Amino acid sequence: MHVLLVYAHPEPQSLNGALKDFTVKRLEAAGHTVQVSDLYAMQWKATLDADDTLERKDGEPFHPERDSKHAFENGLQTPDIAREQDKLRWADAVILQFPMWWFSMPAILKGWVERVYAYGFGYGVGEHSDTRWGNRYGEGTLAGKRAMLIVTAGGWESHYSPRGINGPIDDLLFPIQHGILYYPGFDVLPPYVVYRTGRTDETRFSTICDALGHRLDDLWKTLPIPFHPQNAGAYDIPECTLRADITPGEVGFAAHVAPPALRVAAKG
Ligand code: FAD
Repeated sequence: MHVLLVYAHPEPQSLNGALKDFTVKRLEAAGHTVQVSDLYAMQWKATLDADDTLERKDGEPFHPERDSKHAFENGLQTPDIAREQDKLRWADAVILQFPMWWFSMPAILKGWVERVYAYGFGYGVGEHSDTRWGNRYGEGTLAGKRAMLIVTAGGWESHYSPRGINGPIDDLLFPIQHGILYYPGFDVLPPYVVYRTGRTDETRFSTICDALGHRLDDLWKTLPIPFHPQNAGAYDIPECTLRADITPGEVGFAAHVAPPALRVAAKG
């Protein structure tokens, strides 16, 4: 299988750097082909702006969505964006690896998403009408591929528990897992999170790698998070609200995840 690892840490000798090296070795040892987009090493341009379109009409104001669509449809994207899109098309599974910075991903990785997920590629896909709200949330360009987060956090696991002060980890990662990964079609696997990173020594590092190794070995067996697909009847369109009989009583992020009885079996 083909695996794309999109990696965002500025220091190769960091814990993240060591986990990235471990991940690549483990996947290759299992026979997979791995490509790494090491964003800092690539000096990835993090900001989306007018320079992302190779040819623009003089004097026209930059419009992020319209210019992105024009560039995507007419082969006018910058080569760095087009290359990352090719890697995504090539991949059977995509791993985003990053340290949690201010309760989210580092800006360079957010910028990768903003620029690579062009209009017509990451969003704006499929029919948009009063009865159909595009191919998204379970459908889209990246449907049929798997995705998983590897995240490190300085905070303790309890800080991210259901009543923890930082908020539950599933809630904090929801915009990434549901909004960035499920939106263009990925099947999203539960994240692999390393907490309390400051307490890592050789012994703990070895335990972390053991657990991560199992997750990587099971990349094609693990059940995805059972988000409700948008276009399979769970949502009223065009309101895009969950029907009252779907996950009744739940509101907020948790409402968009099916209860265990409705979960589908893993592939492979
Ligand atoms: P490093 O600092 O490189 O390493 C962590 C520990 O692992 C060190 O003790 C190191 O000695 C050890 N180590 C490294 N490599 C190895 C190895 N190969 N073998 C054994 N031990 C090793 N945390 C939160 O929980 N929530 C936040 O919102 C948050 N926001 C942040 C915002 C910013 C701007 C920054 C800088 C940090 C923030 N943090 C936050 C903390 C951050 O998540 C952690 O610092 C980060 O996840 C640690 O990962 P690292 O790769 O940088 O670790």
